[in-house]
Amino acid sequence: MASNILVYVEQRGGNIYPATFQLMHVAAELASKTGGQVEACVIGSGIAGLADKIAACGAKKVYLADDAEFESYRVMPYASALSAAIDAASPKTVLMPTTALGRDLASRVGARKRAALVIDCTEVDADGEDLIATTPMYCGKVSSKFRLTGDRLQMVTIRSNVYPAAEPADGATAETVSVAAALRAEDTRLSLKEIVSTTSGVKDVTEADIVVSGGRALKSEENFKIICDLAEVLDGAVGASRAACDAGYQPHTRQVGLTGKVVTPAMYIACGIDGAIQHLAGMRGSKVIVAVNTKAEAPIFKLANYGCVIDLFVLVPLLTQEFKKLLER
Ligand SMILES: Cc1cc2nc3c(=O)[nH]c(=O)nc-3n(C[C@H](O)[C@H](O)[C@H](O)COP(=O)(O)OP(=O)(O)OC[C@H]3O[C@@H](n4cnc5c(N)ncnc54)[C@H](O)[C@@H]3O)c2cc1C
Repeated sequence: MASNILVYVEQRGGNIYPATFQLMHVAAELASKTGGQVEACVIGSGIAGLADKIAACGAKKVYLADDAEFESYRVMPYASALSAAIDAASPKTVLMPTTALGRDLASRVGARKRAALVIDCTEVDADGEDLIATTPMYCGKVSSKFRLTGDRLQMVTIRSNVYPAAEPADGATAETVSVAAALRAEDTRLSLKEIVSTTSGVKDVTEADIVVSGGRALKSEENFKIICDLAEVLDGAVGASRAACDAGYQPHTRQVGLTGKVVTPAMYIACGIDGAIQHLAGMRGSKVIVAVNTKAEAPIFKLANYGCVIDLFVLVPLLTQEFKKLLER
């Protein structure tokens, strides 16, 4: 069996989802151990131009399923396209991002291909023919390791921001292969009427290097402005606890935690957030954690690298003011 690694390139409207470049890094690491080749698959409409960007990050071959049918994501046609790319590429391992799309598509394709599939890995490594995949469990309190044997297709989705992005190299090129997915009648039975974007123009918590989050202590949507101001000065994203979202202070698209989004930014600033296990499940992978809380025994301080026992309404505007001066924003 070939030991090639196929990276699924998630894109929307021709923009590559940043975690793809992290997958390229993982693929290169695995390939250096197994002697395989890094390849990629892009599905969409009018996406041929993306091949060069993927080639620059190390793909030797790019499989393109380029068809008007793939303009917007629907699991059935995309699953047929990715299955066709897997048939054409015969990879040993398929890497996908842990996004809503990645989870949806990986499960469908994994079942079709009778693959060994592990979702939301924070570490993957090669051990001979096998792949060792690590995932956090019980809100991140323990990790479980899976051995995916080399006798069947190995598929994993990898959590964003755990690995660095592959560095692009100038002038690298890749062979492109057109994938003609044989769509079945049931693949196209459901058509998409409209996509309503709820987050356009706003940085998503999963993509920002810095996340400034607020909890119930903010007390109102208006008061959240001080969190938004700090996030803006730091060029970060605004997050929130579930209590803050349930109270209507912020939309649920900004909720961090077990039932919200999982973030792993370079810095997470938790303001007026107690540190319930369900919240920690969404941010404990952050590289540096700063906690601002009036209660010295709040659980968030057990995880924080920097703890500030102070009223957030005093500290947060001061931080904004000082960062503004430092960063001249
Ligand atoms: C199945 C399930 C799933 C869940 N999923 C999630 C999830 O995804 N995300 C999530 O966040 N929660 C989740 N929760 C809820 C979670 O258990 C907590 O209830 C929630 O995280 C509490 O939010 P909070 O810390 O903002 O509020 P609180 O627990 O009320 O804490 C507020 C904190 O603010 C501090 N404070 C008060 N005033 C100030 C001030 N002026 N300055 C500084 N600090 C101040 C207080 O000392 C306190 O520590 C889930 C719960 C369940 C059961």
